[in-house]
Amino acid sequence: MPTYLRSQDDDSVKADGDKIHDLLIIGGGSVGLTLGATWAMLGRDAVVFDRQPELYGLPRVGHIDHEIVRILQQLGAEGPTVEDAYATKSYTWINAEGETLLEFPWGEDGISGWHSDYMQNSAILERSLLDRLLESETVEHMPSWEVVDLVQHDDHVELTAERTHMVPGEPRPVLTGEHRRFRGRYVVACDGANSRTRHMLGVDRDDLGFNEKWLVIDARIKRPFSLAFDSGQVCDPRRPTTVLPLGKDHRRWEWHLRPDENPEDFLQPDKGWELLAPFDVTEDDIEPVRQLVYTFEARIARRWRSGRVFLAGDAAHTMPPFMGQGMCSGMRDARNLAWKLDLVLSGAADETLLDTYQAERDPHVRDWTVISLESGKIPCIIDPEEARKRDEMFRAGFRPPMPDFPQLIHGILHRAADGSLVAPAGELGLQGRVQVADRTDLFDRLLPTTGFTIVSITDDPRTALGPQRTAALERLGCHFYTVRPSASGTSSPTDIVDTDIVDVDGTYADYFRTRGIEVVINRPDFYVFGGSDMSGLTALADDFLDQTAAAQPTGASRHREPVTATPSRGHA
Ligand SMILES: Cc1cc2nc3c(=O)[nH]c(=O)nc-3n(C[C@H](O)[C@H](O)[C@H](O)COP(=O)(O)OP(=O)(O)OC[C@H]3O[C@@H](n4cnc5c(N)ncnc54)[C@H](O)[C@@H]3O)c2cc1C
Repeated sequence: MPTYLRSQDDDSVKADGDKIHDLLIIGGGSVGLTLGATWAMLGRDAVVFDRQPELYGLPRVGHIDHEIVRILQQLGAEGPTVEDAYATKSYTWINAEGETLLEFPWGEDGISGWHSDYMQNSAILERSLLDRLLESETVEHMPSWEVVDLVQHDDHVELTAERTHMVPGEPRPVLTGEHRRFRGRYVVACDGANSRTRHMLGVDRDDLGFNEKWLVIDARIKRPFSLAFDSGQVCDPRRPTTVLPLGKDHRRWEWHLRPDENPEDFLQPDKGWELLAPFDVTEDDIEPVRQLVYTFEARIARRWRSGRVFLAGDAAHTMPPFMGQGMCSGMRDARNLAWKLDLVLSGAADETLLDTYQAERDPHVRDWTVISLESGKIPCIIDPEEARKRDEMFRAGFRPPMPDFPQLIHGILHRAADGSLVAPAGELGLQGRVQVADRTDLFDRLLPTTGFTIVSITDDPRTALGPQRTAALERLGCHFYTVRPSASGTSSPTDIVDTDIVDVDGTYADYFRTRGIEVVINRPDFYVFGGSDMSGLTALADDFLDQTAAAQPTGASRHREPVTATPSRGHA
């Protein structure tokens, strides 16, 4: 029975043949491109529509973390971003007098095999993702096509796209009246904060009660200069300000606007230079490339799925950028959906698996949103008396408690009999450097990790699992690995052969030891299903098979050729 999201019964619409694509992706921003590039890596078929003729082309997102770089790495898209990025050493809050209130330790190694945090230029990141997508023979990119209608049928979705073009004097693409119709098994709408799809589906959003206007100036660096204050927040109650590098060639400044101020006034170049003056930068140093007033909001869609249509990225959630996690969260959405859609479309899992998408992602996004809101409260105090008291508290040694970063808490994760999560289930999994034969590199560069991985530090997991369980796991696309200690490591040397995976830095030994486990099941989105000692592996694997089998059609089987991440020119 078809469900019409908007009535569009027009015979002049050109149909895209009888083909039913696996996936139709609405929006080719960072989230749609991540999903498209992941889909291309999996060799699956999709079409990505964007109403814009080309990528935005200017820096937009500053901060990314190690998890995001691992995602880019697996897609072969991290090289240019990391080369241009600035690996953060710290992020600092100073007060109006320039005194340091707090320093965040953003200079550590992340568990994903990369530095914990980077300040980068998202124009480069998006370009790299699009390049991966354009190399694909299975994913088609359709710029200058705006999706204007959706109709849901029992086994597919029909989507109508309308060609756009740019008209002199018009800031946005204009519809041309030329339509095409496409069919897909599923649709993922990555169409941004004002998502038309979300409106068409009638999905409301929870408003977490934040609404502030901020002026953003991004500038190209014309000649090298150094700033007394390089990265962090100026907690000046007269004008809370954020200062950031955006990769090597750009910088960003953000200024809080009071409710009584007119945003229009802040779009004037003179106003920008007036605000930049205290930072001692002039037209000889920088060229502003964007001067915009944004409304920062915290909103989360109540439903992320309606039948065969999903919302991802800003279409599903927006948060203020104080922790730099908006796009990162959207890219996690894309990765969470990709493996689930892949299993369902392969016939290896039932559609109900797709219900775990919102169950897993929504609490994670809510946590990041609350952390972002909380982390914005202290530096953005605008009452001078309150700001004075805050500064005194920091001088007296006050430190706000650092929040634990979110993990997955629901969905396809290993649990005890009482339903509680068993650590490290829900944590991000490890990527370290390993040696295989004569090559030493990050794990994903040397070994297939696009499916589930079962990694042991002691014995081949298949020995403990036995042939039947191993075969069942292989049907779900599992890879089995045993990481051995390095001859030069702290453990005693073993007889290493060419096919062994050697823990060159002892990272894996540390990981398993500190968690008290010997084997781990990792999901394709790099989150841990669960871990145990070798004697608990069969129970762990049975729980994994049960949870996926609950969503598995009887007799389903599949065989997937291993795919290794595309080599790229970046280095850890
Ligand atoms: C000032 C500021 C700073 C930020 N800093 C950070 C940061 O440091 N780190 C971080 O992780 N996040 C940050 N964010 C958040 C980040 O910008 C967003 O979360 C991210 O860009 C969302 O990506 P998206 O792909 O979901 O949406 P978008 O980037 O908005 O992309 C949506 C795409 O869909 C297309 N589209 C829309 N409707 C249609 C249609 N009907 N048909 C076809 N195409 C359509 C649009 O043309 C667009 O290309 C920041 C945000 C702001 C405002």
